[in-house]
Amino acid sequence: MEFLQEFERILSELSAHVREGREISYRDGAYGITEIISCPKKAQLRRQHPDLEVRNIAIDDGFLFEKTVKEVLRKIFGNRFEEEKVLSHDFTVDGEPFSIDGHLDCFIQYNSNKIVGLELKHTVLSFDNETSGRPEELIILQPNSRRISINYKYTLQAKIQRALLEWQYPDKEIEHYLVIKTTLRTRYKMGKSIVVLPTTESISREELEEIIRMFRNDPRPRANWECQYCIYRQHGFCNGSESTNTTL
Ligand code: SF4
Repeated sequence: MEFLQEFERILSELSAHVREGREISYRDGAYGITEIISCPKKAQLRRQHPDLEVRNIAIDDGFLFEKTVKEVLRKIFGNRFEEEKVLSHDFTVDGEPFSIDGHLDCFIQYNSNKIVGLELKHTVLSFDNETSGRPEELIILQPNSRRISINYKYTLQAKIQRALLEWQYPDKEIEHYLVIKTTLRTRYKMGKSIVVLPTTESISREELEEIIRMFRNDPRPRANWECQYCIYRQHGFCNGSESTNTTL
């Protein structure tokens, strides 16, 4: 039974392995996309406690998926592929400067005219309202083709990333996709699937400025569930708060 004690170390090494290369940094005073569409207090606490980590197997599953996809893309596209591409943009909102440093999981210079961006997600369970058949291994969604539950924050993040890509590369054609690894539950069966959702819309500058305004002025969480999963509450740095319950 002596070996059992090794599992703590194995778990810790496993966690470090899947997180490797995923360190994200921001310019001084800049915020990430996920930060501006989430509880503003989390962004503040993240800067005060940069080393805080939670050992969360569910999150690590997502990191493992990301790591594997990035390795495959690097193999296929070579130096035309870039991971954690920084998409920066500086705004002036209500007379005050505000900077966003977005991070796109996968950036591909597809050809001389086209750029493809992929944002990778992992969710434990999604629901499919299509009532016949089994979940397929790969589901490529066309707009309005099928109703699969997808967190609205993912689609909002995708719309912001697409806009940042367009502003950074005004002379290129942009394609952007959400790639979600999930267990899909239909009426008849559950199965592991990869759902690919094209991002067909970009957020407008006015809509993004309104999000920035909210981020600055309303410190409450945006969704009811945010406090429940918040590592800063788990570590006693915040007691939680009622949410704005907005879908922005
Ligand atoms: S516990 Fe809730 S209010 Fe506090 S930082 Fe986390 S999400 Fe925000």
